[in-house]
Amino acid sequence: MRSNRYYWVCYVIVVKSSKGGELYVDGFRVRVVEKLKLPSIDKRLKAIEEAGWNTFLLKSEDVFLDMLTDSGTNAMTDKQLAAMISAQDSYAGSRTFYEFVEAVKEVLGYEYVLPTHQGRGAEHLLAKVLVKPGSIIPMNYHFTTTKVHFELAGGKVLELYIDEALNTRSTHPFKGNMDVEKLKETIKKYGAENIAFVRMEATTNLIGGQPFSMENLREVSEICKKHGILLVLDGSMIDWNAYLIKRREKGYANKSVAEIVREMCSLADIFYASARKAMCVRGGFIATNNRKVFEKLREWLPVYEGFFTYGGMSIKEIAAMTIGLREMVDESLVGAEVEQIRYFAEKLLREGIPVVTPPGGLGVHLDAKEFLPHVPQNQYPAGALAAALYLVSGIRAMERGTMSMERENGKEVFSPLELVRLAFPRRTYLRTHIDYAVDRIVWLYEHRDLVKGLRWVYEPPVLRFFLGRLEDIDGWGKVVYEKYRSELGKY
Ligand SMILES: *Cc1c(COP(=O)(O)O)cnc(C)c1O
Repeated sequence: MRSNRYYWVCYVIVVKSSKGGELYVDGFRVRVVEKLKLPSIDKRLKAIEEAGWNTFLLKSEDVFLDMLTDSGTNAMTDKQLAAMISAQDSYAGSRTFYEFVEAVKEVLGYEYVLPTHQGRGAEHLLAKVLVKPGSIIPMNYHFTTTKVHFELAGGKVLELYIDEALNTRSTHPFKGNMDVEKLKETIKKYGAENIAFVRMEATTNLIGGQPFSMENLREVSEICKKHGILLVLDGSMIDWNAYLIKRREKGYANKSVAEIVREMCSLADIFYASARKAMCVRGGFIATNNRKVFEKLREWLPVYEGFFTYGGMSIKEIAAMTIGLREMVDESLVGAEVEQIRYFAEKLLREGIPVVTPPGGLGVHLDAKEFLPHVPQNQYPAGALAAALYLVSGIRAMERGTMSMERENGKEVFSPLELVRLAFPRRTYLRTHIDYAVDRIVWLYEHRDLVKGLRWVYEPPVLRFFLGRLEDIDGWGKVVYEKYRSELGKY
């Protein structure tokens, strides 16, 4: 796609800068606009108190930049919206569903498709059919809903990440890789017959949106094949992983994202995804070329999700998912967020702010252990930092640390990473938003001593980070508020 004048690197146009180096320009324009409101610091203090210092419980009305997640918050394209109108509604056998099956075949290379209401619906089905009590499920890293489903079915999740994965300052380009030596040892130790499947997650969410390399996926795939173990690919965020392979892996610079995605899928036996991410629509699905597994999964589909031609989604959503799937690999429509994230992270790094490196997909991740070294893990530094960030900026980020872990037999399990994620919904925020965020994060960093930990007021028994309520130890919120008010005023 290179021409003398410019070339597309997916959603961005890259041109030579007159000052040397490269210039990144967004390759789209915005045609629908939502007005934003910046609530005052007084309003923000009241809102975070009412939300039990948990950013999940804030009302969107009180949020300025919603960077909680990219899940279901991406901007759809004109073509997706148009497809929703021309979708063919029917309970069974909709043409729209079969168009989706065609798109899966073309884009991912799988023949059999099972729609689910969203990603966790797919995980539930996989757990139901493939995970037995005592089953081992090795993966590069867990995801919250994934782990809960596999463990509820009696399985045991093993995370076989590489040493660099949890080093937030590492510059390893593929921190989402699986340690293949650990995989071999695991198979030896437990026996291939006790392994339900191996799971690889693209753009590994909980270690900071970090990709794995094609080389690593190929090695994992070969080991699985050799031992007759199924390889499951969680492709919810395969777009960013593929884009990062193109940018970072030797031999892939001149391959298209479409080719890279096809190659990734060719290495896995089962693919599943939450469509809320890369496909920009509420939904999910499982796809495979393994007829036996497909048939087993399909038996349970109507019990938990719906008839096999809608699977808990509306037909309109399936129509938008079909377009989203194709656009996910459209060379002119992928990767803008990866460049935004890089811009954001590089600015923060220049200010000395601890962020996860190298910048990957999904979002910018603040390292709360380094940001708030005085807050012990049993007082949730990442939760406290997410609350403090909202207070000083109106930006809603997400805790991805110990609060996002489940207790084991009542005992707290400390997460190896305490991250605050500022997610980038696809095609939603602009550079001025990033510049604002940097300004407020820097102010907070300069006043970080004022921020203390959190303690539970109400702790739910499972997935506690969603509905849990906490309080600010020693009333630090008021202290930060007063400092902010005196230095920066009402906003
Ligand atoms: C979001 C997500 C899921 C779960 O999907 P939902 O649609 O939220 O149910 C599973 N895996 C990964 C990697 C995800 O990002």
